[in-house]
Amino acid sequence: MNYHQYYPIDVVNGPGTRCTLFVSGCIHECPGCYNKSTWRLNSGTPFTPEMEDRIIADLNDTRAPRQGLSLSGGDPLHPQNVPAILQLVTRVHNECPGKDIWIWTGYKLEELDEAQRQVVDLINVLVDGKFVQDLKDPSLIWRGSSNQVIHHLR
Ligand code: SF4
Repeated sequence: MNYHQYYPIDVVNGPGTRCTLFVSGCIHECPGCYNKSTWRLNSGTPFTPEMEDRIIADLNDTRAPRQGLSLSGGDPLHPQNVPAILQLVTRVHNECPGKDIWIWTGYKLEELDEAQRQVVDLINVLVDGKFVQDLKDPSLIWRGSSNQVIHHLR
């Protein structure tokens, strides 16, 4: 997996103070996408074991408490990203007690395959669905268009 941006402290993408990772790779090609540069899987920078360790350490850094981890992109649930994302969310689940995990994906919850569902089983919130320009509404919080749904899973 590659990624485009990592923000160790972020107050925009999800509730509270968070760590946020924008991964590479998206097949949805939504007209009006705000993040077109992330579409290619091989764009950005390789996501290394060191980056994974850094995220775990940042989430556990008591000097600047984080509420959790936000994963966006691109699409964290692109089939080729799923193995790396599953490993990351498994570690957060096991090594960062009390931290929540939010994922933004262009897929709908009900159309996820078994591998994608393994990821979703470990997270707290999934914001799903493509961005639809005609349904764009700047007053929405944590989603760009009104068709997208914030699923509070656990
Ligand atoms: S799912 Fe998100 S990143 Fe992918 S094309 Fe749509 S708006 Fe862009």
